[in-house]
Amino acid sequence: MENLIKKAAKDLAKSKKVVVLTGAGVSVESGIPPFRGKGGIWEKIDPMEFAHIDSFMRDPAKVWNILIREMKDVIEKAKPNNAHIGLARLEELGILKSVITQNVDGLHQLAGNTDVIEFHGTFAFQRCLKCEKKIETSKVCLDEIPPKCECGGILRPDCVLFGEMIPPEHLFRSGKISRECEVMLVVGTSAVVYPASIIPVDAKESGAKIIEINPEKTPLTENISDYIIMGNAGEVLKEIVSEVELLL
Ligand code: NAD
Ligand code: ZN
Repeated sequence: MENLIKKAAKDLAKSKKVVVLTGAGVSVESGIPPFRGKGGIWEKIDPMEFAHIDSFMRDPAKVWNILIREMKDVIEKAKPNNAHIGLARLEELGILKSVITQNVDGLHQLAGNTDVIEFHGTFAFQRCLKCEKKIETSKVCLDEIPPKCECGGILRPDCVLFGEMIPPEHLFRSGKISRECEVMLVVGTSAVVYPASIIPVDAKESGAKIIEINPEKTPLTENISDYIIMGNAGEVLKEIVSEVELLL
């Protein structure tokens, strides 16, 4: 692993066009559980039942009580970890250009990255089903479930639920920057949620080097990734950044 960290540092230090794709794993060390894998939310509940737009429309109170309330709690307490901090430092060093994240927790922006594409939207706001008004999640009162907007409409997270489309502007821009980058870091994503899962494939086909950081192998590992550094995102990125700083 030591060697791969040095190799990644070299690959990054000589590139000026690096993009990172992150998934739930990047926030695990901040105390936010991933959906899949060990300790994932999916071990307790069925995603199609609770994070699908049809389920929400059928029974918003149930989805609020079982999933959204807990997400609000966990995300409000979370702080950026060494993975987010390391990626912000790579931007400061002029290496990392953009972050494409599937996460909705806002931790990349909090750590200091300035160009973050929130592929699946954000949990920082809730949106009214009736008038579309957005309300900061931290200001939403949970005395009544489901919570409502002042117009009486039900509030829902401002993120993409299963069964919904990715905002076209995110799809377009992610596709463009992934086809233009020299190196793509793929951190903490199981790479099975379509269409985010094709972002590294697009990058690879356009000639980018793909470096994965994940404690477990993914469907990308054998076919798409040039190599995988198997470890926790925070620990690995901290070491990579220290090595990069020695090389600059
Ligand atoms: P996922 O839940 O499908 O997979 C998580 C991945 O992270 C796995 O491959 C796992 O091996 C890896 N992982 C676990 N611990 C890690 C660590 N310490 N360091 C690095 N990697 C680690 O996540 P996904 O692929 O992002 O897709 C699921 C969807 O769920 C995404 O759309 C995402 O928006 C959403 N989600 C978001 C959050 C969040 O905002 N923090 C949390 C859970 C789920
Ligand atoms: Zn409203």
